[in-house]
Amino acid sequence: MAGLVAAYPGVLEKLDGNTLVWRDGTRMPVDDGKGEKPFAAWLADPDIEDMLRLPYPAGAPATPPAPESDPGRARNAAFFEKMYGDCRKGGVKSRLTTITWLPAKARQKLQVTTVNSVSARLEAVSKELDALPAEFDKYLIPAAGTYNCRVIAGTDRVSAHGFAIAIDIAVAQSDYWRWSKGSAQAAYRNRIPLEIVQIFEKHGFIWGGRWYHFDTMHFEYRPELLPPLAPLPSR
Ligand SMILES: [Zn+2]
Repeated sequence: MAGLVAAYPGVLEKLDGNTLVWRDGTRMPVDDGKGEKPFAAWLADPDIEDMLRLPYPAGAPATPPAPESDPGRARNAAFFEKMYGDCRKGGVKSRLTTITWLPAKARQKLQVTTVNSVSARLEAVSKELDALPAEFDKYLIPAAGTYNCRVIAGTDRVSAHGFAIAIDIAVAQSDYWRWSKGSAQAAYRNRIPLEIVQIFEKHGFIWGGRWYHFDTMHFEYRPELLPPLAPLPSR
């Protein structure tokens, strides 16, 4: 839990027992006292502690995750709405900025939040991806989108895209657990090269390709699940 406070130094101040204290004085319970939740409850109604329950295998090769292993997929709604705003109430838009995705190769404009310097972090990702050999372009261009005030398919929970902390890279090379022909979940499949994943992870973004409910185009800013980030270069 100390890693959570350290990951968001601009907005979080400290842990005080079971309470997360924000720099503006807001206090939130870390543990809701409901105990170890079964998967569906963990995903639908996580407390702050639940968000960190599963270790995220940063840097590792992409292998099929164990059943119900979705590290980072549970997001406490109060925590994220406090941090980034509620897009359904207009609370996210005022803090968006436009970045240029792959400034040499794609020059695509994307909207991302400035909160927690997510926009600067994604620009750092973009710059490194831009320098990869041409064989990587098809995975990255065009990016399928960033900010989008919508709920996650099949739920009433706001997507990470609604907080403007997520990006979907090129759809054409992606795989998604819901894209199966029958009623069952599609078998794990990934075509995204590890080089791309590791660049995102280095800058604070987790990858949906590490989830049992895989979404290989999806990356979102979740530094609490990753090793400490390097400071941003001053400019
Ligand atoms: Zn996505």
